[in-house]
Amino acid sequence: MRRCDELGAISEERGRLTRTFASPAMRRANKLVGAWMCDAGLQVCEDAAFNLLGRWNSSRRGAKTLLLGSHLDTVHDAGKYDGPLGVLTAIAAVQLLRERGVKLPFHLEVVGFSDEEGVRYQTAYLGSRALAGTLAAANLARIAEKQIVKARRPRGKFLGYAEVHIEQGPVLEKNNLSVGVVTGIAGQSRLRVEFHGVAGHAGTVPMALRHDALVGAAEFVAAVPSVASTRAGLVATVGKLEVAPGTSNVIPGHAALTLDVRHQNDTRRLAAVRSLHAKARAIARRRGLELVWTPVQQTAAVQCDKTLTQIFSKCVAQRGLDVLKLSSGAGHDAAALSAICPVAMLFVRCKGGISHNPAESVKTADVAVAIEVLADFIQNVAALYERR
Ligand SMILES: [Zn+2]
Repeated sequence: MRRCDELGAISEERGRLTRTFASPAMRRANKLVGAWMCDAGLQVCEDAAFNLLGRWNSSRRGAKTLLLGSHLDTVHDAGKYDGPLGVLTAIAAVQLLRERGVKLPFHLEVVGFSDEEGVRYQTAYLGSRALAGTLAAANLARIAEKQIVKARRPRGKFLGYAEVHIEQGPVLEKNNLSVGVVTGIAGQSRLRVEFHGVAGHAGTVPMALRHDALVGAAEFVAAVPSVASTRAGLVATVGKLEVAPGTSNVIPGHAALTLDVRHQNDTRRLAAVRSLHAKARAIARRRGLELVWTPVQQTAAVQCDKTLTQIFSKCVAQRGLDVLKLSSGAGHDAAALSAICPVAMLFVRCKGGISHNPAESVKTADVAVAIEVLADFIQNVAALYERR
């Protein structure tokens, strides 16, 4: 917790925490965390994508590597735990294993990814995608540091990736639990929805003859939560609404909104999007409006590895705690790593489910549980690795 405070003070902005990809603040953060890695007996280096790596080599020939970590970059005016908690708990778990005198049958590597939030170039996962070798050409074209492609690691060398992260939601707090086991990361559809009507005089056009785009949009906005709440695990959000011409005495001729739909299951997410589309079409037809429905971005859901997830569950249960499984509505480095190896995640309760905010807060006792569970997890993975 003291390390979280110390790291949280390293910022590129005065008075608030902001640490972006390849910034001088990140260089200082890597130096500080690198020193802590050294203290834990890890061999430290930085790769071509500014990812900080701390390695514990096994004496076993031809052994694979278990990767642990999270990201060290932040959003603007961030909290201290989103990202760093996953790196610092991994270092602490390594220390705990050293104290237990554990010898591992595989190499272990703790990584602090350089870019997950995507603040610098509006392109998330630069660090983890560089390591996984899955950087898109379009993303690479946007950035100055082209050498980050050299951070690519050979496929087949990692036996898995495990990440501890704050929940960024209220479910663990609601269930009074320190930690939860993540089943997967939700897929996401982002769309732009436009209703075109006819602008007209607010005083002269009778109600029955109007084609009010905003009233159609409003009806749709209200329909979104009713459609979402009938489908388990689905979340759907209208985050932005633009109205034109936007004058008090003119009937709105145009209304455009954003729609964000997420679910752990891609088929169910796409079905929900189709159902919302049908709803919007019906509203537009009834109100004499034209509907323009434009998909903007889609990302597929990521499933956490069954075996690794079961090991996390077992380790939580062995500490006498209830095992709560939950899906992540937010994206994580684990999503990028899932392209090259099995992934698993452990969530830590955070106060009020608040994140991306200086008010982000975790309990010391919960972090202690996460460190112990992670150390137990590594030992259990080792036992399994020995057996095969
Ligand atoms: Zn994060």
